[in-house]
Amino acid sequence: MTNASVNNFFIDNLPADTETENFTRQVANACYSFCTPVKPSSPQLLSHSWEVAELVGIDTKHGVSQEWQAILSGSKLADDSKTFAMRYAGHQFGHWAGQLGDGRAINLGNIVHNDQSLELQLKGAGPTPYSRAGDGFAVLRSSIREYLCSEAMHHLKIPTTRALALMTTGDWVDRDMFYDGNVQPEAGAIVCRVAPSFIRFGNFQVHAAFQELEILKQLADFTIGHYFPQLVEKHIDKATYLAWFKIVCELTAKMIVHWQRVGFVHGVMNTDNMSIHGLTIDYGPYGFLDNFDPNWTPNTTDAQGKRYRYANQPYIAHWNLVKLAEALYPLIEDAKPLEAILNEFPVYYEQQSQRMMANKLGLDKVLATDKELFEDLEKLLAATETDMTIFYRELAQFDGQLTSINNLFTDAYYQETLTDDYIQARHQWFLAYSERLQQNTISHSEKTELMNRTNPKYILRNYLVQIAIDKANQGDYSEINKLLEIMRKPYSEQPEFEDYYQKRPEWARNKAGCSMLSCSS
Ligand code: AMP
Ligand code: MG
Repeated sequence: MTNASVNNFFIDNLPADTETENFTRQVANACYSFCTPVKPSSPQLLSHSWEVAELVGIDTKHGVSQEWQAILSGSKLADDSKTFAMRYAGHQFGHWAGQLGDGRAINLGNIVHNDQSLELQLKGAGPTPYSRAGDGFAVLRSSIREYLCSEAMHHLKIPTTRALALMTTGDWVDRDMFYDGNVQPEAGAIVCRVAPSFIRFGNFQVHAAFQELEILKQLADFTIGHYFPQLVEKHIDKATYLAWFKIVCELTAKMIVHWQRVGFVHGVMNTDNMSIHGLTIDYGPYGFLDNFDPNWTPNTTDAQGKRYRYANQPYIAHWNLVKLAEALYPLIEDAKPLEAILNEFPVYYEQQSQRMMANKLGLDKVLATDKELFEDLEKLLAATETDMTIFYRELAQFDGQLTSINNLFTDAYYQETLTDDYIQARHQWFLAYSERLQQNTISHSEKTELMNRTNPKYILRNYLVQIAIDKANQGDYSEINKLLEIMRKPYSEQPEFEDYYQKRPEWARNKAGCSMLSCSS
């Protein structure tokens, strides 16, 4: 790709679909299908992340070159790039959905730079054999959301796929945003995503489901060999698969703990949206908690059952890992060790989660009695609408003086007046917290530092992204870059951006895009 070194090792090592025409179909005995992006009519680069460009060796000191812009919009294919869509399956909202696959994502290959190999993928670049009823395109609003959140999550220190560039295509895409029959043309856009690979749980599920066991083994061996080489001593055997599965469980648990830490709700935790690397992937109707509400989900498609609500995310991760274990079973042919690893998940998750909560509270250790302190705090936060981000950030200022509480948190509440019962309960909690702090063995400044690197000052609030989208729809793209700039340093005080450290305004409470989103994108 231009002068970078491209490695096509996914396609070089794994079986291709023998059909090369691009039409929607069920594919058999293949990990991917070759297909090429649609040429956009007048592509325009709206924003790029120089950090991601640097990772893959693109020099953007003087902006993104015309040649790279052509590649990132799908207008031009690099000479050595063999583009393809991956085949995968999945469980959607708890039900087996059969073959899914990259319906609107086209992989460009891996760039190897500084000994690191990263895959580039264009999301929204046109139909593939896996597009099913979709058109293969993406609209500007959802592409802005994916672009910004990919980068925001990275800077929040959360494992995620990255985003290199956001382009508009100059073409229009029809979308029924609320699934109410009102179809509108919207601006088409493409996000260039970057990750070690985009392999999902669903990539393994597809081969298990269709009894393609030799390919299942090839894919597992490829994944382990390339991405988990530390597990391979002489050859890959059943013990290797089990060790790998255990690592995937741990990576997934760690990712969810990070989500819970900042109040991120993915919204569509289907097994096809679970990365084998434990990366946050596929930003659709996601959202960040404003007021701490464990039952919140931004996804209107899930409004009834709320399967993917904030508090349910660890359980769903476990459920998804069970499905992955079922897919890997033919490689191991012994349920017991798989079950044993799955049974460790809640224990491992709980340990990580408690450590994370201790960090949020500035505690250097987790004591046996802390669980109650953590749970009581979450109950308190949910009892009256409390802004999660502001509460935890301000908590670092707490000096043990119970009289200071009221002033510290005035901006964190969504109600003007607090009930006496609530104030009493809050007093009790802070009493327990003050006592607990006495057992801390770190200095005051170390405690503040620990809290301020755990509790972000800035999150990518849903209403802020919606403002950026509304402006972009009017042709003003400045807010996209401004949000990206702020989210580059989410743990730092940025006095010039104090306006972005505010609870959600009332106008955004029930506004589409701010509090609820559909899967339409
Ligand atoms: P999601 O849960 O949004 O990540 O997507 C679920 C499945 O639908 C994946 O196989 C996507 O590739 C596919 N998909 C979503 N939107 C489109 C679209 N506009 N055109 C084609 N396929 C799509
Ligand atoms: Mg997906």
